[in-house]
Amino acid sequence: MNTSHTLPSYLDPNHLGPWGIYLQQVDRVTPYLGHLARWVETLKRPKRAMIVDVPIELDNGTVAHFEGYRVQHNLSRGPGKGGVRFHQDVTLSEVMALSAWMSVKNAAVNLPYGGAKGGIRVDPKTLSRGELERLTRRYTSEIGLIIGPSKDIPAPDMNTNEQIMAWMMDTYSMNTGATATGVVTGKPIALGGSLGRREATGRGVFTVAQEAAQHIQLELKGCRVAVQGLGNVGGVAAQLFAQAGCKVVAVQDHAGTVYQASGLDIHALLEHVAKHGSVLGFSGAEALARAQFWSVPCDILVPAALEQQITVNNAAQIQARLVIEGANGPTTPEADDILAERGILVVPDVIANAGGVTVSYFEWVQDFSSFFWSEDEINARLVRLMREAFAAVWQTAQQHKVSLRTATFIIACTRMLQARELRGLYP
Ligand code: GLU
Repeated sequence: MNTSHTLPSYLDPNHLGPWGIYLQQVDRVTPYLGHLARWVETLKRPKRAMIVDVPIELDNGTVAHFEGYRVQHNLSRGPGKGGVRFHQDVTLSEVMALSAWMSVKNAAVNLPYGGAKGGIRVDPKTLSRGELERLTRRYTSEIGLIIGPSKDIPAPDMNTNEQIMAWMMDTYSMNTGATATGVVTGKPIALGGSLGRREATGRGVFTVAQEAAQHIQLELKGCRVAVQGLGNVGGVAAQLFAQAGCKVVAVQDHAGTVYQASGLDIHALLEHVAKHGSVLGFSGAEALARAQFWSVPCDILVPAALEQQITVNNAAQIQARLVIEGANGPTTPEADDILAERGILVVPDVIANAGGVTVSYFEWVQDFSSFFWSEDEINARLVRLMREAFAAVWQTAQQHKVSLRTATFIIACTRMLQARELRGLYP
């Protein structure tokens, strides 16, 4: 492949940021791809990236412009699939990386999807409900050219939820002239949403933690867990760990860090967060400085917030035996190496947080067949799929003597590139 000209920053592996990290992860897997390595450049660029201007009228009568994106990284195995993020730090490069991780995740769990992701650079906390609705509808309309139930199916991600999915579904349906429930997942149950979807990512995190703990002879009961992020992923995972008899000793969110050696009362903590917006000021715990979170004595660490949290600056301090990546991209490649040298097992995002998109897939299948499953059925299928995927990753890691991340990439990239090769180049 001719890359002799100067690389644009988004193709440069030394360019810091999530996309650069993803490129390094692909480089690490390339030696294991055999003859498929011929096609690996496919994975190093998105198939399609759309940048849209999202103008809305604010409540005070002025007009504000926001930048939005929808990136389809790979569509070799099926329609694009991945969430939409509303956050003040969203950039094209971040959405590209998140879309690529969706490709890997979907292929690792063998869902019949490619990978995609969307986002708007906006702090949604600064918007009224009406402004948020106008923003969501205009964004959906702008990306309407490339999404659709068999083209690309958005879902919730950071700061987006069921209501936002309902507006997206409605906008797409109004524009196309037919109610299309399958255009997004993570919808309210009343609009074709799936039971168990909201809890699915956290449940998947907990399931792979159980599997990984078993492999390293770590007894879950009584084990100490530290969770970063108490949103849809971290909040549910923390509850499931506590229910399983673990002690959730530390929790960090955007505003603060709380610690309780004997285990936090997660129910009370979630109530506090619902009321006050963060863990700050929670009375049942000691407040820690942000940096102290990484060195708390614990057995399992669950980063479930933003990217690039575990870095060279804190990887040497981590006390856990197991890191379960609830967030997308929380560990940098250098930190990955430090953790590996220290014998800390990392279950990577692309398998650990795949529970959400797995139940999204169930939702999409239910919408297409207009036949809905019970919550027990959904949870049982989710747990079975996650266990099978984890077992395959574990076995591949043993076989090639590589990290679980590289093993997941081996499985996923092989699947994507096999599809790529079979389809062939057009024309
Ligand atoms: N946003 C979630 C993720 O990062 C879920 C995506 C989906 O359900 O399509 O995996």
